[in-house]
Amino acid sequence: MIDFLYLISAICFIYGLKMLSHPKTARNGNIIASLGMLIAIIATVSLGTNLDLKMIGIAMLIGAIIGGFFATKVEMTQMPQLVAIFNGFGGGASALVASSEFLKYGADSSMFLIISITLSVLVGTLTLTGSFIAFGKLQGLISTKPITFPGQQIFNALLAITMFTAAYFIPTYGINAFYIIVILSGLLGILLVIPIGGADMPVVISLLNSYSGIAAAMTGFVLVNSQPSAGNALIICGSLVGASGMILTQIMCKGMNRSLANVIFGAVGGEVEASSGEGKEVNIKSYSTEEAAMIFDAAEKIIVVPGYGLAVAQAQHAVREVAEFLEDKGKTVLYAIHPVAGRMPGHMNVLLAEANISYEQLKDLDEINPEFEDCDVAIVLGANDVVNPAARSDQNSPIYGMPILNVDKARTVIINKRTMNTGFAGVQNELFGYENSIMVFGDAKDMLIKLLSDLKEL
Ligand code: NDP
Repeated sequence: MIDFLYLISAICFIYGLKMLSHPKTARNGNIIASLGMLIAIIATVSLGTNLDLKMIGIAMLIGAIIGGFFATKVEMTQMPQLVAIFNGFGGGASALVASSEFLKYGADSSMFLIISITLSVLVGTLTLTGSFIAFGKLQGLISTKPITFPGQQIFNALLAITMFTAAYFIPTYGINAFYIIVILSGLLGILLVIPIGGADMPVVISLLNSYSGIAAAMTGFVLVNSQPSAGNALIICGSLVGASGMILTQIMCKGMNRSLANVIFGAVGGEVEASSGEGKEVNIKSYSTEEAAMIFDAAEKIIVVPGYGLAVAQAQHAVREVAEFLEDKGKTVLYAIHPVAGRMPGHMNVLLAEANISYEQLKDLDEINPEFEDCDVAIVLGANDVVNPAARSDQNSPIYGMPILNVDKARTVIINKRTMNTGFAGVQNELFGYENSIMVFGDAKDMLIKLLSDLKEL
């Protein structure tokens, strides 16, 4: 019966994950996967082993209150930070389970068990500390610039070698060798994430997500002898998270046109001073919404480019209303979605889906870029890095090589943001000073509401 329950939960995870791959079915996919987790928990507590159900109940209650609180209170724009913390807790939980198995069997464990425990503690602890550094960078508590020191790569390699040597000596030195593994894994997690610059954070988050899955799968191997069904279930769900995280990492790397090795090791040694484009003169033209409305009135094809600022302003409904008004006037409106726009993979798709904007109108980078050339107006709403031409031309820019949305090819580019501040990567954007660019300053939602009323008055 318990095996059967674990099987059902594994099916729920697989099916839920499949449903997550489309925004329309994602919500139900989430519910099905959560149901799978509930079934797995029920199966685990009914295993018949000597469990303190009261303690488990208290732990679940505390976890549910904290999880529920954050899930309802955290703003959509803070989701990446939340995801980073969840990844970290996932890794930490796996490391704790593996550690408890070590404490149970000690240095007399079989070689298989020692290897599985070491890998689980290594990946789990590394995910925990690395995710907290990622959280700090996303929350602005730690500099988003790469933090490096000479010989960092060699130092990391030495740490890894020391850790595996400690694992080898577990049968001799027992718990002391184990402590070394825990401490060095934590340090390695920090050292692996601090050299990664702001613009590469999407890759880091999805990579840490994958690591948390790998840690869970490793813990499954730790448990597979003592509790085969629970171990198998963990191996299945850990592998799903690990593999899907890796696929997402690939997608993010492709979106940034970077190899994974380049993201992880790129900043190390970084002799080339990254250029922020500061000091370059940018002469801008600032327009009112009334003037912008007149440009829209004359346009036939309009491409909306949403970015992080649109999410901050929660302007997804306002943009839909403006787009619908323009469509009713016979104009074509498309949305250009950059894979790393916003602060999490799929951020813009989720945001626009919330406002019931049809998926057919959302065009990804490859599909939309050729369209800019015969587009009358590209309106950039709170996007910055994903439309920065420095990615094409400035070899010293931290975003050099990242494919961008070619908004500058449109006849007119209207850029809405609040100030001349930089985007997440901290680089100036010379697009704002281009001949065909116009700035309309203000909060995206306020600006769109005003634009709609001005359009109606024309
Ligand atoms: P950016 O962060 O480059 O720029 C956002 C712009 O929005 C800012 O320049 C800001 O300017 C403006 N803004 C902020 N609030 C508002 C508001 N209320 N109304 C109008 N404008 C506003 O965003 P992009 O989407 O272009 O690029 C995403 C960046 O984030 C990339 O560098 C990417 O690598 C990184 N990233 C992406 C992740 C992902 O998974 N998608 C994860 C982590 C990082 P101002 O303050 O002047 O208004």
